Amino acid sequence: MNTASCTCGEPGAVLGPPLVSMGRNGTRFHVRPCQACARGVLDPMPPPEGLLAAYDDAYYGRGARKFVQPIQAGIGWFRRRRARHALRFLPGTERRGRALDIGCGDGEFLSVLQQMGWECHGTELTEVTARRAAAIPGLSIRTGPLTPDAYDANRFDVISLWHVLEHLPDPDRTLRDCARWLAEGGLLLVAVPNLDSWQARTFRGAWFHLDPPFHLHHFAPGSLARALGAAGFELLETRHLSWQYNPFGVLQSLLNALGFTRDELYEVLKGNRTLGSPGRIAQAALAALALPPSIAMTLAEAAAGRGGTIEVTARRRGSVG
Ligand SMILES: [Zn+2]
Repeated sequence: MNTASCTCGEPGAVLGPPLVSMGRNGTRFHVRPCQACARGVLDPMPPPEGLLAAYDDAYYGRGARKFVQPIQAGIGWFRRRRARHALRFLPGTERRGRALDIGCGDGEFLSVLQQMGWECHGTELTEVTARRAAAIPGLSIRTGPLTPDAYDANRFDVISLWHVLEHLPDPDRTLRDCARWLAEGGLLLVAVPNLDSWQARTFRGAWFHLDPPFHLHHFAPGSLARALGAAGFELLETRHLSWQYNPFGVLQSLLNALGFTRDELYEVLKGNRTLGSPGRIAQAALAALALPPSIAMTLAEAAAGRGGTIEVTARRRGSVG
């Protein structure tokens, strides 16, 4: 494990005492606030090679899709909505161009844009994780660590980092790269867990979206806006209501807090574990009972501007480095 540090590059970027602590797989992790930019940083920080090994088949689900089928169908609906929502901000009636989805997963978001007439590019960490996207005809998928010279300047009209930024060892460098790869006025779509959300504050170390050791940097609306501004972006909107991520965040955090194996229901939904144990059946039953209150909490935290995850649309400013 490495000594943790913040990549914001601001003077005084030292880490304060832990905000949250949690154990996983025999390691004790802490999230410590950067005194300069206020984001949370995972401590200890896993070494890059250890992190790569952790993104195995189990992380992405073992089957042809990440999640079991009914969940996968629902996620498809969210992706179509995400595409429509973002494109409202692009000028012109044609609204077709070039899109890049960093950490594109199964490529389904790009597939939606492709069907709308867009030229679509995606990136994934390894050949294994890229296999689903690579199987979609017409998508251009790059694998391996993302380097600053991966794409030409001014190449894209839309870049998406959907629940990806928090996984990156240097999210600030990637944001600067995105600003360069985007044409002037191009859109950046970012979704991240919200460390200032009610569910994060309520469940603390049991919060599902802490996801150690995968989530390295924990943003909140303020710290994300700061990082985007420093990289050359103007914030257009921040949304706090995500039906895809927020109610499940409450449910899984509740089960974690009750002492069940951390994130076990999530593993069942990915098809990595079956429901065939009394403990998991109990969790499914508890989750069903807790669904109405978790929906209520999702609505309340969104109304208060404290959603469990946030979705941001930003626009590249005129001149970037
Ligand atoms: Zn910082």
